[in-house]
Amino acid sequence: MERTLSIIKPDATKRNLIGKIIAKFEENNLRVVAMKKIFLSREQAEKFYEVHKERPFYPTLVEFMISGPVVVQVLEGENAVAKNRAIMGATNPAVADKGTIRAEFAESVEANSVHGSDSLENAANEIKFFFSDIEIVG
Ligand code: ADP
Ligand code: MG
Repeated sequence: MERTLSIIKPDATKRNLIGKIIAKFEENNLRVVAMKKIFLSREQAEKFYEVHKERPFYPTLVEFMISGPVVVQVLEGENAVAKNRAIMGATNPAVADKGTIRAEFAESVEANSVHGSDSLENAANEIKFFFSDIEIVG
């Protein structure tokens, strides 16, 4: 069993896609064990995406992530980190596999509907960024 962090991004919350996206997780045996809808502060968005600070897209990525509410979730299941990445599809929706969240819903390489942790170690850190232990209810 693993846990991973998922974020439903502002492009998706704005288009009322929360339920359709969560359905993809549940259909693939990932369980939502913690969830909240929040508005990221600029500081939180900057800190969360700090690894991309030097990338040319960092400023617009931060603006995008604070352009509307997001839904942050902890997903639990077998192989949750890799499984979630597979369900999400490639970063660029133009090349994402058919049936993935990004292929079906993403607007662009930036407004790509979901975030998912890319390793078990990052998952643990990203979960801590948003949730305390008592907010994760299994
Ligand atoms: P992923 O979310 O698939 O792990 P990255 O960690 O590489 O992708 O990038 C983080 C986020 O930054 C992406 O999900 C996307 O919103 C944005 N992003 C990545 N590459 C680009 C790009 N070339 N142009 C604009 N935004 C980008
Ligand atoms: Mg990433």
